[in-house]
Amino acid sequence: MNLVKTKAIVIRSIPYGESDLVVIFFSPAEGIIRGMAKGARKSRKRFQGSLEPFATVMLGAAIKESGALARVDAADLVNARLGIREDLKKYGAGSVMLELVSIFEVAGAHSGDAFSLLETALDVLEMSSSPLSLLAAFFPGYLRLSGFAIPLSSCGRCGADLAITGAMYAGGFSICCPGCAPFCAACPPEAGLQVADLPAAISRGTVAFLRKAEAIGAEAIGRLKLGGKDEKDALDFLGRFAASAAGKRLKTLDIASEF
Ligand SMILES: [Zn+2]
Repeated sequence: MNLVKTKAIVIRSIPYGESDLVVIFFSPAEGIIRGMAKGARKSRKRFQGSLEPFATVMLGAAIKESGALARVDAADLVNARLGIREDLKKYGAGSVMLELVSIFEVAGAHSGDAFSLLETALDVLEMSSSPLSLLAAFFPGYLRLSGFAIPLSSCGRCGADLAITGAMYAGGFSICCPGCAPFCAACPPEAGLQVADLPAAISRGTVAFLRKAEAIGAEAIGRLKLGGKDEKDALDFLGRFAASAAGKRLKTLDIASEF
């Protein structure tokens, strides 16, 4: 058994039995920690509302070697981020960030960069006036850290600069200019990937936005803004690309886009 004390963000909390909670945390040194908080639903005193999604806590846990659930001993609230939990738009955008982390991060892996990015993005989200633009700006940097950088510099087929042509995406890991998209869409899909009927299209401005979002620091992504249609197109594009990388659709993205 490995006793750890670490900063962690609560990703999900699932009621278990009469009084317990199974909680998924994300931490910089231990990656994903799945833990059991005994009695957390009966005695509010012990955890003081700290086991809610988006919260940063100082977690004390006993991690078991067998891969069994860790024992959650303490979770002292550092930041509840009520501003996200009390605003539907922010809640929706933040839920997609947490889902991405729950898909790509693993247990026991050092994930300091991804942790800092998520923590900063959630802090910015709490104050944000355009949560969906912020969500779109979160994707490229996060996917790059997860090993799935979006190839947005040039067309995968003819090499054209996508910031001059705009971009289209039909599936897999190749992005095309509008001129090449019909041919790319006709390519045999990579194994196990789903090719959507119609390619997702994003404008030149959105290509520039996503490139910039990947290049600048996390604290600056809140300053980038997209117009309504570009925002919608960007999230469709990013959702499909992330689904190819993850091997499954993001459940929270459709809900977030509704708000
Ligand atoms: Zn092309």
